[in-house]
Amino acid sequence: MFIVDFDDTLFDTQAFKQKRKQVLKDVGVTDIDYDTSYKKGYVSNDGVYKYSNKTHASALSDLGYNYDLVYNALKTTTTKKSLVSFLFDDTIFFINYLKSTNQKMILLSLGGASFQQLKSEGSGIIDFFDDVFFVNCKKHLIIKDILAKYKSNNAIWFINDKLQETKEIDDLYGDQLSTIIKSDTNNSTYKNIPVVNSLRKVVEFIRE
Ligand SMILES: [Mg+2]
Repeated sequence: MFIVDFDDTLFDTQAFKQKRKQVLKDVGVTDIDYDTSYKKGYVSNDGVYKYSNKTHASALSDLGYNYDLVYNALKTTTTKKSLVSFLFDDTIFFINYLKSTNQKMILLSLGGASFQQLKSEGSGIIDFFDDVFFVNCKKHLIIKDILAKYKSNNAIWFINDKLQETKEIDDLYGDQLSTIIKSDTNNSTYKNIPVVNSLRKVVEFIRE
């Protein structure tokens, strides 16, 4: 079984965010207003993540920007064509490989559910997965649920980009699953967790 993170693992979220910042800049949004509105658009009063094009546009409109102008600018980044372009160049190779093993594939993503849904559906990868978890809580809490829901006779792999998050999961569930960190910025290792810089290398590792 494979449990796979979405942002920065399958999808170049950093580049996607830069693109969104740029399209807003093109219609006159300053960097400061971008940062303020991004934060405001991200967390609702009850602390649950509810980020979307609409919440971000509303936050900008509160700062005096024309709602339709900024909303339409943001929307250009979430078309299917745009979202597909932010998959890493080995993402499809990677998920096709996972599929070819005939094992369960679980997508695990932290953040506002509807926006995560939009990104993973629009980029075309969601259909490859047997189950999808979009969560607002710490990932290790969901790992517990996934392990309880899906008993696997095969090895269980968790593939993620964040070191700290992966450490936590390795500490708690290292006896039940194997973790791999896919990151091109993080070279440090923790215990025996491999850190590789591409999904192709993740495949090489799994195949060994
Ligand atoms: Mg991630």
